[in-house]
Amino acid sequence: MTSPDTATKRPETGPLSHLGRIIAIASGKGGVGKSTVTANLAVTLAQRGLRVGLVDADLYGPSIPGMLGIATDVPPVMSPEGKVIPAEAHGVKVMSMAMLTGDDNPAILRGPMVTKYLQMFIAQVQWGELDVLLLDLPPGTGDTQLTLAQSFPLTGAVVVSTPQDVSLKIARRGLRMLEKVNVPILGIVENMSGFTCPSCSEVTHIFHQGGGKEIAATLGVPYLGAIPLDPAIVDSGDNGVPLAIAAPDCPAAGAYAMIADALTADLAQPSGIQIPFDWHLDAGTGKPAPVAAAPQAATDRPLALDYDATGLTIRWADRTQTIDPRELRLACSCAACRDEISGKQLLNPASVPLDVMPTRIWSVGNYALGIAFSDGHSSGIYPLTMLRRIESAEAEDV
Ligand code: ADP
Repeated sequence: MTSPDTATKRPETGPLSHLGRIIAIASGKGGVGKSTVTANLAVTLAQRGLRVGLVDADLYGPSIPGMLGIATDVPPVMSPEGKVIPAEAHGVKVMSMAMLTGDDNPAILRGPMVTKYLQMFIAQVQWGELDVLLLDLPPGTGDTQLTLAQSFPLTGAVVVSTPQDVSLKIARRGLRMLEKVNVPILGIVENMSGFTCPSCSEVTHIFHQGGGKEIAATLGVPYLGAIPLDPAIVDSGDNGVPLAIAAPDCPAAGAYAMIADALTADLAQPSGIQIPFDWHLDAGTGKPAPVAAAPQAATDRPLALDYDATGLTIRWADRTQTIDPRELRLACSCAACRDEISGKQLLNPASVPLDVMPTRIWSVGNYALGIAFSDGHSSGIYPLTMLRRIESAEAEDV
């Protein structure tokens, strides 16, 4: 079992670093048990001593308060600084649209409003220091979900599916979309995967089994586990006490615990330079210390970063790469510099000064670097896999 300590490491720096790891729970369609999985994972992680926040981002059908027994008939309390104080239940801090609308009715919101509300839920809520913030995304993998996934510095996403072919097909589409926009997939969870007999606790598989595992293997993403169909899950959800707390010894609670473990192991500090870091090149502070390559070190983790007149040098386990600073600036794939759908460059190269250079480089989760430049641009997130693909200055010279 993974020690809770591995999940307490903060991959983020910057204004949201106090939120710890931000993990989105997504599903291709509604009714697959996404919110139930989120609520149970949240309480499981809280029971392990982690400081957990949960944003009910399913603004159209906020069900988290009901599942955690949070009253929605009293408006949330504001802090003296004008921030919303989140509700708290079973050791989990919660913010949900239901707490603003006063009931579980779906809010009628257009896509851009959803993002605005969620930004408010994240930035205008007095979360305090968190280890993990779970986002229960609205069902589906359309534009709204993609915008949401890209609006926050996500550590990654978990996709929940049921074992039926149609549900798995939709989940697969969702996984591909998330991959396309560089949201790391932490894994797929198969829910309602077999039936738990209420009297003997034996699990019988009603639908064909293993579809989630197959998809995970085909797409090369982790398979986090299967949660059996269990009538007690519905009751505990209705009673406001998640099954992971109400019946911690039942097979479904065991499955939630295993998923929490797998998730935590996936979030463990990878080999490579220590994260988080926040390197201010202009001030000369925060530069990550170089590390030696461990045997069989992953090749997609930087072992050292350096910057001089030739550009940004990244030492990987298998090669050293130097990227020209202007090349780096032009490679920015943020929404302002590149069209997210077509991939077409929006940034006019003529507008980028010839002597542009990075002024600050910081870790974004364990999968990307954030880079601010001397031309004032600072919204670029550079996935490590993308950086590795940029032609190095030396390669061009050959
Ligand atoms: P979603 O968030 O995907 O729309 P919910 O989490 O609201 O789905 O779950 C839909 C319904 O399915 C709820 O009534 C919930 O109690 C039930 N449910 C979820 N997971 C299970 C399970 N493993 N076994 C039995 N019922 C479940």
